Formats: sequence, structure tokens, C-alpha cells
Amino acid sequence: MVMGRWDKGLILIFDLDDTLMWTEYLYSLAFLEYSKLLIEIFQRRLPYIGSIAKRSEEISHDKIKEINLATGQPYGFSMNRYPDTLVASYKELCDNGFGTYDEKIAAQIRNIGMMVFDGVKIEEAGLVPGAENTLSLLRRKAYLILVTKGDKEVQEIKIKALNLERWFSEIRIVSNKTKESFLEFRERFPDSLVYSIGNSFSSDIKSALDAGLAGIFIPCYTWKAESIDYSSLTPEQLRNFIRLKKIEELPAVFSDII
Ligand SMILES: [Mg+2]
Repeated sequence: MVMGRWDKGLILIFDLDDTLMWTEYLYSLAFLEYSKLLIEIFQRRLPYIGSIAKRSEEISHDKIKEINLATGQPYGFSMNRYPDTLVASYKELCDNGFGTYDEKIAAQIRNIGMMVFDGVKIEEAGLVPGAENTLSLLRRKAYLILVTKGDKEVQEIKIKALNLERWFSEIRIVSNKTKESFLEFRERFPDSLVYSIGNSFSSDIKSALDAGLAGIFIPCYTWKAESIDYSSLTPEQLRNFIRLKKIEELPAVFSDII
């Protein structure tokens, strides 16, 4: 790190999901509630919850490309995908003889799925431990930007519920994080030290390093394990790369200026 570059500005680009918030937590809570409801409505006669969960994951994955009949568009990562996944799982269990499909119960299950997007619940869940303090410290010395990948409607709910505008001067929702999307920051802040901070090596770190930025990797593999190929990094990229265990270790990286 070249210390002389500090005075020309420090730009920190943060990821949201599984970097600043534990994304899967509310999905797990909703699934637990759905499971309890199944036990109740099927009067204890049902497959092992683990296999229902596994099957739901397959349904959810398939829905990304499936056309949502309500909109005529593929579900993608839209809001309806999870509630409709739970309803499809319930319907499949009924089709397999575990019960009789009931629209009222389907509506109840859809509501359980919508819990994931409940602003009050997202606010209650809050940020990952240490994140508030870290952001409060860093925003005094750095220009903070949030770049989050995902469905606009879904990410906007999280951003609002977590009141992220408190810390971030810029907030962007993107459909993909690529070298090209990070190049813009390299061009906008040519003399600054620009870091991308996130839990995904390929999206948050490798793309940023390829665009000439620095990267701070805080791994969290809730979605799926990634293969990380450090040998793909050039010696210069390795010098611009830091790996941390927790977000609260971040201020120490910039202790010279904070
Ligand atoms: Mg992430």
C-alpha cells in the first residue's frame, strides 16, 4: 500500500448480501414456520423436513428461469419467487398424497414466504455484528459506495429497512458485478485508493482486481461454496488483496488514517 495515496481519497465499495447483512436468516425463519404449518395441516404425516427443504431448493432454483404466470416474465430473483416456491412445494406434497390442496392454506403459505421481504423483520435482524460501528468509523475518512447485485424491488426493501443511506453516499443496485462495472470507478477516481469489499471472491473481488481496484475479501458462503483460484491473480493483484474473517477487522486495515 502506498501511503501517499491516502490524501487523494479513499473509496470503499461495499457489497450488501452476506457482507453487511446475513441474507439467509429470514429465509430460514420462514422455512421453519412453513415446516411447522405442514406438520399441523398434514397431521404429522409428512416426509422428513430435510427432504422437503432439499426439494424446495430445487423448485426455487428452477423458478429462476420459469415464467411467472402473473407477470409473463421469468421469475429471476424477484419477490414472488420464494413465496411461490413454498406454495409449489405444498402443492407437490398434496399431489403426492399428503393432503388436499386448499387455496386458503396456499395463501397462508404465500404470506409466510413474504415474511422475507418484511421491512420490520429486516430492520429487526439488522446488520452483521460489528458492521454499524465499522461503517460509522469508516465514513469519517472514506467515501462509501454500496453496490449490490439483485432484483431492484427486493434490494430496495433491504436498503430502506436497514437505513443504509446513513452511511453510503452512493447506492447502486446492479444485475451483475463484472470487471466492466468496476472499471467505471477506476475511471471516476483515478488518483484514489479504491477497494471493493465483499463475501464473494468472483463477484466482489476478482472482478474488482481485474478492473485495477483493490479487494478485501470477507468470505461467507451461504449460497454455495465457491472455488477460489488464487493462482489466477497476478503478483500486483495479490498485493492489492486482503482477506479478513470478520467485518469488524476492517477499520484496522485503515488504522493509519482513522
Ligand atoms: Mg454478497
